Amino acid sequence: GTGTTTWVYDFSQGNRDQKDLLGGKGANLAEMTNLGLPVPPGFTITTDACRFYLEHGSTPPDLADQVTEHLTALEKAMGKTLGDPSDPLLVSVRSGAAASMPGMMETVLNVGLNDESVQGLAAQSGSDRFAWDSYRRLIQMFGKTVLDIDGEAFEEALDDAKREQGTDLDLDLDADHLRDVVGRFKEIVRAHTGRDFPQDPREQMDLAINAVFDSWNSPRAILYRRRERIPPDAGTAVNVCSMVFGNLGADSGTGVAFTRDPGSGAQGLYGDYLQNAQGEDVVAGIRNTVPLADLERIDRGAYDELLATMARLESHYRDLCDIEFTVERGKLWMLQTRVGKRTAAAAFVIATQLVDEGLIDMDEAVRRVSGDQLAQLMFPRFVSGGDATQLTQGMNASPGAAVGRAVFSSEAAVEWAQRGEKVVLVRRETNPDDLSGMIAAEGVLTSRGGKTSHAAVVARGMGKTCVCGAEELQVDTKAKRFTAPDGTVVSEGDVVSIDGSTGRVWLGEVPVEDSAVVRYFEGEIDPESADADDLVRSVHRILTHADAQRRLDVRTNADTPEDSARARRFGARGIGLCRTEHMFLGDRRQLVEKLILAEGDADRQAALDALEPLQKQDFLEIFEAMDGLPVTVRLLDPPLHEFLPDLTELSVRVAVAEAQGESDEGTLRLLAAVRRMHESNPMLGLRGVRLGLVVPGLFAMQVRAIAEAACERRAAGGDPRPEIMIPLVGAVQELEAIREESERVLADVSAAKGVEVDALIGTMIEVPRAALTADQIAQSAEFFSFGTNDLTQMTWGFSRDDVEAAFFHAYLDKGIFGVSPFESLDRPGVGRLVEIAVERGRSARPGLKLGVCGEHGGDPESVHFFHEVGLDYVSCSPFRVPVARLEAGRAAL
Ligand code: PEP
Ligand code: MG
Repeated sequence: GTGTTTWVYDFSQGNRDQKDLLGGKGANLAEMTNLGLPVPPGFTITTDACRFYLEHGSTPPDLADQVTEHLTALEKAMGKTLGDPSDPLLVSVRSGAAASMPGMMETVLNVGLNDESVQGLAAQSGSDRFAWDSYRRLIQMFGKTVLDIDGEAFEEALDDAKREQGTDLDLDLDADHLRDVVGRFKEIVRAHTGRDFPQDPREQMDLAINAVFDSWNSPRAILYRRRERIPPDAGTAVNVCSMVFGNLGADSGTGVAFTRDPGSGAQGLYGDYLQNAQGEDVVAGIRNTVPLADLERIDRGAYDELLATMARLESHYRDLCDIEFTVERGKLWMLQTRVGKRTAAAAFVIATQLVDEGLIDMDEAVRRVSGDQLAQLMFPRFVSGGDATQLTQGMNASPGAAVGRAVFSSEAAVEWAQRGEKVVLVRRETNPDDLSGMIAAEGVLTSRGGKTSHAAVVARGMGKTCVCGAEELQVDTKAKRFTAPDGTVVSEGDVVSIDGSTGRVWLGEVPVEDSAVVRYFEGEIDPESADADDLVRSVHRILTHADAQRRLDVRTNADTPEDSARARRFGARGIGLCRTEHMFLGDRRQLVEKLILAEGDADRQAALDALEPLQKQDFLEIFEAMDGLPVTVRLLDPPLHEFLPDLTELSVRVAVAEAQGESDEGTLRLLAAVRRMHESNPMLGLRGVRLGLVVPGLFAMQVRAIAEAACERRAAGGDPRPEIMIPLVGAVQELEAIREESERVLADVSAAKGVEVDALIGTMIEVPRAALTADQIAQSAEFFSFGTNDLTQMTWGFSRDDVEAAFFHAYLDKGIFGVSPFESLDRPGVGRLVEIAVERGRSARPGLKLGVCGEHGGDPESVHFFHEVGLDYVSCSPFRVPVARLEAGRAAL
């Protein structure tokens, strides 16, 4: 009826498209259930219920009734009652948000056990040991996650019990020992909470459900979401699922598997299996697993069914899936599946494999990879040589080459990284509390756990280098050191190198080389030849398809011939921003100083005359590198004082000289000029077009150098395509004045050389007023290029040189924005100004050419925005060019 909300769905009621409502885990359990796969029955409490709980501090009033209804149905289906003393139904209570947050939230297993039903479980299973072990696990997990008791209290009690039996293996504890452990655990609960461990099965379940809701806002979950840009208010679903047991003996076990290698994309069987173990033991990396292939030997029937199920899932999802499964006395149960995380390399390789297998088309392949993944593939790799010594080889859990100082705790990683040190986080195994350290580190090295351990899963998700399960290393985190098999001791601060692609670990720094993908972009690897591996071939195919789809052109920001040539090899179709200020540095600084200090037209002209041939030479080489393609040269932009000595330093120098009676006329004049030009807010001061208007001859000199270089290139048979760009314009009058002067110079040069020089004249849009008056400005501009760095600075009033280091961390922490607006374009604010300028500019001049040359031109999210608002091109640094090509293609699909 009206007004009633459905808060609970049976597994048979949902499907995989309902992730937002049922969470990823719940939606996929439903999908598997409806595929007829062996999923233990259960139900999902929606993210709506979680949001209600987080907002009101209590569950929806009618939730309890709906849960009862579904629990009753579950009990009926299973023929057992929750916590029944003679034959109890037990359930797991698991989190599952829409976006995967591995290990970030809570799970409680074996709910329904108490002092009575443990006897029933013992009778039904025929194993006292199993029943008491299950009960102690419940109290341990429940105590930690629901009652907020420090997990170490339980660990220590368990360790004590093992020590008393002279063992360090859980499996050496028998039923009596475990009954004793349960007693100690109950004592811990009483001591920490002042009450007994709850015996009522339904109360256990309700408290566990609320604890899962609460875990949405645990510090580590908040940190993870911020990093992964997961909305803070999405909430998690809760899955209540009947328990199946992998710890019922040697014919039981639990495992994790991938339908292809998530590291390389190679086809085959990938996963880990742990005999006689329950749920989280595999992911937590607590005991060492065996390769999944060994299951064939252990249990042929379960193995065959698992393989058939994996094939079914992959063709159903048309993608790599990862799964969690349990074998209970020879019977296979599917506990979870999802489209699996994978490395960047695997993403490309798998996408084209699936095309070749006829499961997806090339459009879909392009959608399935991202610019961020491509960027990761362009990082350098280790080469042999150097004097580092290999210590061991672990598992290649997440590719990349990391070099850094060894640190042994998350806190140390954060602390050292804040001091500017590169670090490698070394742990026996990681747990979700290590997240901040993993973020701070270059790479992660663990001595335990397989490719599906926490460290491996999280590192792959972050694109961070990881070697796990390096079992030969003795890691002593308390003493802050590890020992290699040859006896080498590596202490905190020692440099180590780890290779996430091979699993190798070295003491010392290993030299690195360019990635194969970069060598392909450089033209050094022919993608059709035998030199090309699967990855290079996949990248080539996907980028070729993206290029054919995209509507945005991609140019580059480059101001040297080398960068121009490289960007061209990487696929740039011209230069969108050639900054000329770098050309005024080095030896030429002297000449600029002369220009600034000139006391009269003749002096000034002499300085300009000396600069012009140098400037012309720069343009000649760049036009040659970009022959036939547009080169947008921006006239001088930064405040002139940037070319002069620092005021304080110079004042000190003069004072010292004076004290020694050695002051000279030149230095004093320089000091006076530096004082005169000093500005409190230089980025809002005398720069950009304003310089062109107040320093006579400066812009004319630059335009002449451009024009003469173009003439010379043409005379040499080249095809130069210069475009002249005026920075920091806020009013059309500024642009008009410079345009007139520039056109005069172009005409002069054309006449003198007898060669027609064609150059578009346009402006940057980087002052809000320019965006708002774009219709007027377009009267005088043949193109706009959005300078979104300055436009962001001036729209937000954020000094681009200061705020990121000064206080953005606080803004990010407080959720004012999820990502720096200097990194990814702020759509509602800065983006709105861009939209206005596009609309008004084109209304005044329909053929107006539009581009962007701020850093956002190479940011994936922003590229999609620029596509949507209809720009003609984006321009970015040479190494981002392939990223922009790919994202422009994805935006067009
Ligand atoms: C900009 O402001 O976005 C821009 C490209 O110019 P610069 O970064 O040189 O100020
Ligand atoms: Mg700028």
